[in-house]
Amino acid sequence: MGEYVFDSFADEFGPEKVCYITEPGIGLKGIAVVDNTAAGPAIGGIRMAPDVTTEEVFRLARGMTWKNAMAGLSHGGGKSCIIADPKSPNKEALVRHFARGIANLTGYIPGPDMGTDETCMAWVRDEIGRSVGLSPVLGGIPLDEVGATGYGVAIAAEVIQDFTDVRLEGATVSIQGYGNVGQHAARFLVERGAILTIVADLDGTLYDPKGIDDVKLTAWMREKGGLTGFEGGELMPMDAFLDLECDIFVPAARPDVVDETTAHRLKCKVILEGANIPCTAGAEKILHERGILDVPDFVANAGGVICASVEYHGGTKKVAFDTIEEKVRENTAQVLEVCKRTGQMPRDAALGLAKQRVAEAMSYRRST
Ligand code: NAD
Repeated sequence: MGEYVFDSFADEFGPEKVCYITEPGIGLKGIAVVDNTAAGPAIGGIRMAPDVTTEEVFRLARGMTWKNAMAGLSHGGGKSCIIADPKSPNKEALVRHFARGIANLTGYIPGPDMGTDETCMAWVRDEIGRSVGLSPVLGGIPLDEVGATGYGVAIAAEVIQDFTDVRLEGATVSIQGYGNVGQHAARFLVERGAILTIVADLDGTLYDPKGIDDVKLTAWMREKGGLTGFEGGELMPMDAFLDLECDIFVPAARPDVVDETTAHRLKCKVILEGANIPCTAGAEKILHERGILDVPDFVANAGGVICASVEYHGGTKKVAFDTIEEKVRENTAQVLEVCKRTGQMPRDAALGLAKQRVAEAMSYRRST
């Protein structure tokens, strides 16, 4: 389960609760971290993976505290994990037992994450009456199907026009990771006049300076699971996207794909972080020094959690999209205004704003 590391990561913001859930009979080991609930009950996913540590769950929970505060939601941050293979034949039993283990953590609303999906969330809701990321038959808004996160990325792209010389009409776009986030980001950006010229996924980089048909490519990827064989464009080696010129780069695959080495190679003007932590801290510094505007993950990819929050409060898909538009637009502009005024890096500016919001929410709590 990992050593007791609470003291090494606790600070004035949290965590409020760290809970270990075990059930030896079925091999369940789980961890739930409720980091901060000053703004409201914490929303954060249940991850299912064989190698997660308490510290990692805490870091993810803290990330949700900042993301939910930055998005201006009435929710704090939390995260949990079930330490098991997501393909376990025992999955339903593990998820249901885990859900019962967190029943009394009423300040934590679980959602889907790596290794869990809307079926798992339906089991959780069945056990404890609360979860987000549900199927529409249970009142949910299928955020991956509707493209909530990709939509938020496109709204952030609209805002960068006020802070750079990039114009969406005619802007060339490169996307790494053509999955849920990447496909919808492409669709919403192309709808705004941008040209998708580069798509990188596990089997290569597809490049077409005349423009890749995003609708056809999405259908192809969903059927074939890879870029290979798609008609139109040239399939180049996997890391070729790093050296190809574009206006906007959307990393939408894995953490740390841009590091201190690759940050020097990128030839874009703007990065909109669709994935979580796609750039290392060192890489973000280099990008800043190179004059590349990098809108951080918890600002640019907040569409998903905003959608989950709207679902939790009983809203419709339309309300979710209106709320994503309003909040991502306002928050991206606010962060970039601070950067313009102070010269700070966007992540530092965003963190400063999120911390201020959480600290203010905490100031309203009973202190005696
Ligand atoms: P996904 O699994 O649907 O798509 C990921 C895509 O990236 C796949 O096509 C995969 O083949 C590709 N990929 C994986 N490793 C790669 C690599 N090394 N190089 C190039 N391509 C690679 O996942 P998703 O839901 O689109 O999420 C993508 C990222 O965005 C993750 O980091 C996730 O945590 C983050 N995120 C997702 C959401 C959401 O709403 N789904 C919200 C916020 C953040």
